[in-house]
Amino acid sequence: MLSRLVPAPLVRLFARPYVAGYSMEAALTSAAELLEAPRLLSTLDLLGEHVTEREQVDANLATYERLIDALGERARFPDRAARPTVSVKPSAFTTGDQRAAFELIRGLAERARAREVGLTIDMEDHPWTDMTIERAVALFHDGFDVGTVLQSRLNRYREDAAAIPAGMRVRLVIGIYREPAEIATTDKREMKARLLEMAATLLDAGAFVEFATHDEAIVERFARELAPRAAERCEVQMLLGVPRGAIQERLLQGAFGVPLPVRLYVPFGIRKADATAYLRRRMDENPRMALDVLRNLARRR
Ligand SMILES: Cc1cc2nc3c(=O)[nH]c(=O)nc-3n(C[C@H](O)[C@H](O)[C@H](O)COP(=O)(O)OP(=O)(O)OC[C@H]3O[C@@H](n4cnc5c(N)ncnc54)[C@H](O)[C@@H]3O)c2cc1C
Repeated sequence: MLSRLVPAPLVRLFARPYVAGYSMEAALTSAAELLEAPRLLSTLDLLGEHVTEREQVDANLATYERLIDALGERARFPDRAARPTVSVKPSAFTTGDQRAAFELIRGLAERARAREVGLTIDMEDHPWTDMTIERAVALFHDGFDVGTVLQSRLNRYREDAAAIPAGMRVRLVIGIYREPAEIATTDKREMKARLLEMAATLLDAGAFVEFATHDEAIVERFARELAPRAAERCEVQMLLGVPRGAIQERLLQGAFGVPLPVRLYVPFGIRKADATAYLRRRMDENPRMALDVLRNLARRR
């Protein structure tokens, strides 16, 4: 992968817009700034998945607990509707046993409920799919404000959509992980068509659809063709740092028919190695970014 050629400090320097910073405070500041005009919502994510040591699990858990407590402070984010949510990756909470990860996530969901903070369980690669959907739906049925993520590249996408109950939040993405050809499509156009199909199905089934893509043509189709069915159950989500300011403003203003909320995914690191790994994944996904970094590196020499 091209991104492996770029030294870690340079990855962090050039890709800085993608990460809020290297402390919880930096993430909270970023969320507060996004809420100033044009009122972008946010979901905060600690970079630290695929851990190998127990201490790292404990550290991730402690950071999320502090984060949820800080978000629940009314002075900072008094408006419940505008309060940032948190996003968690199950592999950040285990060195192997998947069930153990979801036990810890249940604890976080309890804390989040007490502080009136929404929680989303991100979707990782396919060994996690079944349990993530099952546990997220179970938490939702138990009365927690818990949502999850479905990936349209997976051939099981229709069954996954059918598993989401009315009222639950569900983020729809194409999926970032390269999955085996037997279980997923590699055709991006197909992924995008499935994304729209899932959004239609889920809106009709009463779910709250968080439509997450940077493909402006697809976002526009979602906003024009599908969101008017139930605009109060629609939101568009994008990653911090991907330059999409113009369309975000247009969505907020209702330029495509109905005004839609926009939420940015705001990752923050505590350990720089975790942030570097995240940024490398972004570079692999968008090789032009890796090329820009390499070009800048060459110019400095
Ligand atoms: C809010 C949010 C949460 C997500 N959560 C998950 C998750 O839980 N699990 C999961 O598997 N995936 C997740 N993803 C990633 C997602 O699955 C895609 O990999 C990613 O969004 C890129 O696909 P795209 O739909 O934007 O389309 P693409 O066709 O990849 O991109 C559309 C356009 O946007 C540009 N673009 C896309 N990404 C970037 C980038 N990082 N930097 C610069 N330009 C870019 C492309 O160059 C292209 O022009 C999430 C994405 C978002 C926006």
